Parts: sequence; structure tokens; C-alpha cells
Amino acid sequence: MTAARSLAPMDVAGRADRVRAAAVDAGCDALMVVNVVNVRYLTGFTGSAGLVWLGPDELVLVTDRRYAEQSEVETGQAGVDMRIEITNDAPKEILAAVAAEVGRIGLEAGSVSWADQRKYDEWFDAAELVPTAGVVERCRQIKDDGEIDRMAAAAAIADDALAEVRPMLADGATEKEVALALDTAFRRLGADGSAFPTIVASGPNAALPHKRPTDRPIEPGELVIVDMGAVIDGYRSDMTRTMAVGQPDPEAQRVFDTVRDAQQLGVEQVAAGRPISEVDKACRDRIGADGWGDAFVHGTGHGVGLDIHEQPWVRATATDTLEAGQVITVEPGVYLPGFCGARVEDTVVVTEDGPRRLTHSPKDLEVV
Ligand code: ZN
Ligand code: ZN
Repeated sequence: MTAARSLAPMDVAGRADRVRAAAVDAGCDALMVVNVVNVRYLTGFTGSAGLVWLGPDELVLVTDRRYAEQSEVETGQAGVDMRIEITNDAPKEILAAVAAEVGRIGLEAGSVSWADQRKYDEWFDAAELVPTAGVVERCRQIKDDGEIDRMAAAAAIADDALAEVRPMLADGATEKEVALALDTAFRRLGADGSAFPTIVASGPNAALPHKRPTDRPIEPGELVIVDMGAVIDGYRSDMTRTMAVGQPDPEAQRVFDTVRDAQQLGVEQVAAGRPISEVDKACRDRIGADGWGDAFVHGTGHGVGLDIHEQPWVRATATDTLEAGQVITVEPGVYLPGFCGARVEDTVVVTEDGPRRLTHSPKDLEVV
């Protein structure tokens, strides 16, 4: 299967101008981008080493000889017209030359180490270095049709993989075996890989929100949390389902029912212009009303895209409103240590008309 063939094109070339405007708003004449995900966003280049100079009227990718051909091919395929500088030992000379006329250079404060900051201070001795936070990340929040198409395709693969693997839970498979089967299915169905380490957590393990899969066999009557996603062209999906083999303990059943209802209420809050905090509140109020407020130990969701966790953060303290084109998760959970846990998560596109779910697997508890 080659899912990528029918996907809408992404406007990679248009991103530099939007980020440039955001950098100016942040008080910078130029931005030096070192976060590799942000480098990919701006250029299409997927190498693990490289930085981007986003000047007032130029875009320069500096990388090393390992990536000479790859950088040319990938930026060309992305349709980005930019200068590429290949050097193994002289980034200082290249960057000092392009920065010669620039007064204020933005650095990504969250991605630049103290040692690097001291180095840049020396490289750009005539300029003022300005710490910035989230300049590129804010632009990344709003996805174009090509980006959303890739996330939808990744989500569809995860749906198909779960449908295929779900019966394994009833066959006494271990958590690790189920996780491996999902990871393998993602690739076989056309994804580039898993969006993050797949979580399969059964029985008491499900009370740990980010438990890694173990050799524990899945037992009848337990809740099992499966949290998974696939990647296409760097774009990720994220979905959690809670399942059970046979009839669970009545208390565990009530936990699951509460979480599933809370998640539905949260998704219903998703629409352009709505406060982000309302999504969290809808989930939290429902879980609190059933007496498990203290057991919902994390935020309600997060943005998804080139990173599995990115802006915006869906939590009680969020002050922004949702914008069309954002892609977020809604994933309330309840965790009762030593006993059970339940979480239900969808990846949802924010539109003017409400939520558009990308993840469609059934939310029934029953495995088969
Ligand atoms: Zn997840
Ligand atoms: Zn998530």
C-alpha cells in the first residue's frame, strides 16, 4: 500500500515567510533554527544534523557532508528554494558572513544549550542574541490540508492495525507481543513507523499512565490500555483505547464508562473560537462528578504533528482559544493504583464547524 500517493501537497515553501513574520513580532531581525523538527518544518530536510538561518530575505540550510545529496533532494522535493551550505568544519565563517548586517538574532531558548549559546555569542559578536520561545512551534500549530491528510492516513493505518491485532488480547498474548504486533502492522500497512513507543498496559499496569509493555500476559476481566500511533512523512497520529477480555470487575466497568463519557464531552467542546480550557473542564467535571477527580492525573490533551506532543497544550490553565487547523488530542484517564486504569484518546482536527475526528476505532470495551 502506498498511502502517500493520494495525499494533498504540503505548502512547505510558504512556511519561511510565516515564521519570519512571527520572528519579527518576537523582536528579531533573523532567527537561527537549531531544533531538528523545526528545521524539517521549514525546509523538508530530514537529516539529524543541520541548522537554518532565517534572515530578513534569505533562507540558508547549513549541514555537513553526510547530507550533501540528501539536503539537495529533500528541499527540492519540498519545493523550497533556498541556499544550502555544506561544511564539516566552518559553520562559524558561513554564519558570521550571512549575519553580518543583522542586529538582533533570535535563538530558540528551549533548544540551545548553555555551551552553544556561548559559542554563538562569539560567532555573532556584533549582534544582539535574543532568546525566543515557540516562534516556529506556534506556526506549526496550524496545519494545511497536506499535513492533515498525512495525519489522517497515519490514523487510518493505526485503526486498521488495531482491528487486526485486537483478537490477540483474548489469546493470552503478553503486553510486549501485542505492542510488537501493532508496530509491525503499522509498517506493513504503509506507515514509516510508530509515532512513539506503543503502550500496552494491562490490569494493575494500566494504573501507570505511561507504562512500557512488559512480559505480563493479558488476563480475562482486566482493563487493557493500548496507546498507539503511526507516522507518515513525519506526521503522527495518537489514539488510546481501553479494552477488556470478558466482563471486567463492576468498579473497573464504571471507571471505563466514566472515562469514555468524559472523553466524548471533551471532544464536543472542540471548535474554532472555543477556549481550550473548556475541553479540559468538560472532561474533568464529568470525572470529578463520579468521584475520581484526583485519579485524573494529567492534562486532557496536546497538539500533534511533526512531534507527538506539541502546542497547544489542552489543560485547565490554557488561556488561548482553539483555531481552525489545529490538531489536538482529547485523552482523559482515571488511574487507580494497584487495581486498574482507563484512558480514551482521539486525535481531532479543529474546524469552524466543530471537531473532525481522525481516529475511528470503536470504543467498545469488548475485545471480540
Ligand atoms: Zn496517546
Ligand atoms: Zn496523546
